[in-house]
Amino acid sequence: MPARIKILNEKVVSHIAAGEVIERPVSVVKELVENSIDAGASKIFIDVAEGGKKLIRVEDDGSGMEPSDAELAFLRHSTSKIDTLRDLEAISSLGFRGEALASIAAVSKVTMVTKTQDGAGTGVLVEGGKVRHVKEAAANKGTVITVKDLFYNTPARRKYLKTTRTELAKITDLVTRWALIYPEIFFRLTHNGTEVINAPKTNNPLDTIVHIYGKELVKDMLPVEYYDPDIGIHGFISKPAVTRKTRSHISFYVNSRYVVSNLLSSALKDGYHNLIMKKNFPVAVLNLKIDPRKIDVNVHPTKLEIRFEDDSGAHKAVIGAVEETLKKHSLIPDIGKAEIEKPSLMAFETGGGAIVVRQPAAPVIEARRQVDIETFEPKPERERQQEITQKSSTLPRMSLIGQILDTYIVAQSGEDILLIDQHAAHERVLFERLQGAGMRDKKNRQNLLAPMTLELTPGQKRFVSANMDMLDELGFRLEHFGGNTYLVTAMPVTLGDIGDAGTVSEIIDELTTLGTTKRGEELLEKAAAIVACHSAIRGGDVLSPTQMQELLASLYGTTNVYSCPHGRPTILSITKSELEKRFKRK
Ligand code: ADP
Ligand code: MG
Repeated sequence: MPARIKILNEKVVSHIAAGEVIERPVSVVKELVENSIDAGASKIFIDVAEGGKKLIRVEDDGSGMEPSDAELAFLRHSTSKIDTLRDLEAISSLGFRGEALASIAAVSKVTMVTKTQDGAGTGVLVEGGKVRHVKEAAANKGTVITVKDLFYNTPARRKYLKTTRTELAKITDLVTRWALIYPEIFFRLTHNGTEVINAPKTNNPLDTIVHIYGKELVKDMLPVEYYDPDIGIHGFISKPAVTRKTRSHISFYVNSRYVVSNLLSSALKDGYHNLIMKKNFPVAVLNLKIDPRKIDVNVHPTKLEIRFEDDSGAHKAVIGAVEETLKKHSLIPDIGKAEIEKPSLMAFETGGGAIVVRQPAAPVIEARRQVDIETFEPKPERERQQEITQKSSTLPRMSLIGQILDTYIVAQSGEDILLIDQHAAHERVLFERLQGAGMRDKKNRQNLLAPMTLELTPGQKRFVSANMDMLDELGFRLEHFGGNTYLVTAMPVTLGDIGDAGTVSEIIDELTTLGTTKRGEELLEKAAAIVACHSAIRGGDVLSPTQMQELLASLYGTTNVYSCPHGRPTILSITKSELEKRFKRK
């Protein structure tokens, strides 16, 4: 038996976020589909014509309505989902305002046919807000609502509708978001009779991702399962090498409600730290389970925004979920599966095109977690200590083969050939060393026997005097000597022999530019990346086998071994099967 529809009392109504919800076709689709989901449907078919401007039809096999409810449903503030103010504080359904059907019916021509399991079928026709007919109708269990000629009676609003393509794109995007989170519901979307989305019901959320994003992407998705006392997070995130240029592939849900939240998407990005390049975005489908009393969905009539009682708790949970997930998996991108800008190019041809790695190795290297420290030569005490604590590294064991092009270290790991970018890798090691607790450690500071003098521009001077603490944290000590002259009496140890006045002044220059946009922790992190970049061995430096082995060994001590501080990959792999394929052995 479906719950009966009632009209909300004034008091409750006055607490509901007011405002118009029907702005464009996608708003109609949103409200109708939410109703179908709330009605427990296992199948929701959406057909639209001309981007929904001409027709929107939503059919479900949910609870349906009794004849008496069918008419009430179109009245304002009529709902079966909440009753009292207290209900408003813990909303567990997608709808609760009781306004959607009324608002839709006011600006279009609506027909509805509905039937409960045991009740009689009912047909209702509403035009411009007026109920024209209610009569018995033959129907299957469920509800079919057809909305024709949206805004036919409000030409001013009709004018603001966009092209068919744009309106359809918005609808497609929304249906995609639902299909991703409700694998137990069969979603189908057609436009002018042509199928746009077909996502049959599955038992496995990954299969749904296949339906929506395709097989290729699924291989690069990592399952997320995270719990803290207040929030559970489930879903999938992409390996860092798999990114998109926009946020379009980021979907957040709170208690299975799709939400748009800067708070959550910035937490997602923070969780990846600098594993992802600037201006790139991961793929993510994440559902936060949280006590409905600790969130407020009654913020905006479209219910796309929500408010958390504890913003920072939600932020922290997402970061934690991402960090934990990334730590569990080996993230070396597989060069063989790399996408190539020009499809005709072989993966190894570099002429004319960068190899764009979007699709890292499919297999999760569970069995190879162990680090083979023995394959490396003895290291200085400090580094050896680091390795010993690195049992948790996901970097597979590897043995050194040599250096190529004076830029890449080649190593073998099981049946994979690994290519390590010596600059990027060294940068990563130094960056983490600079960032680590050791930074405040005197040992990371190298006192200069003969201080260097540095002439600063007025801008640099201002930056230096305002950021003495930050510079000190990195290992620099600068003393004002008079005028524009500063004395450098200590430098980060990572700069070693190469830290001449020229390098230091280049670094100060870059830091000053950075200081105009960044502050605090973020500035420090970026500053560490700059110092690491200047300190690291370069492409073109010839390395001895010992140097190479030391570099490889110290990689095991890093947390984010798979990318440099700027987000470029440090390691790529070529698998045996890829070679066999290329040599046509298979
Ligand atoms: P709300 O969803 O906020 O309750 P609506 O105006 O969207 O308000 O819907 C009014 C009521 O009509 C709902 O509370 C529900 O009882 C009923 N209803 C609407 N659509 C359906 C549907 N597809 N299946 C069953 N009942 C529905
Ligand atoms: Mg509704």
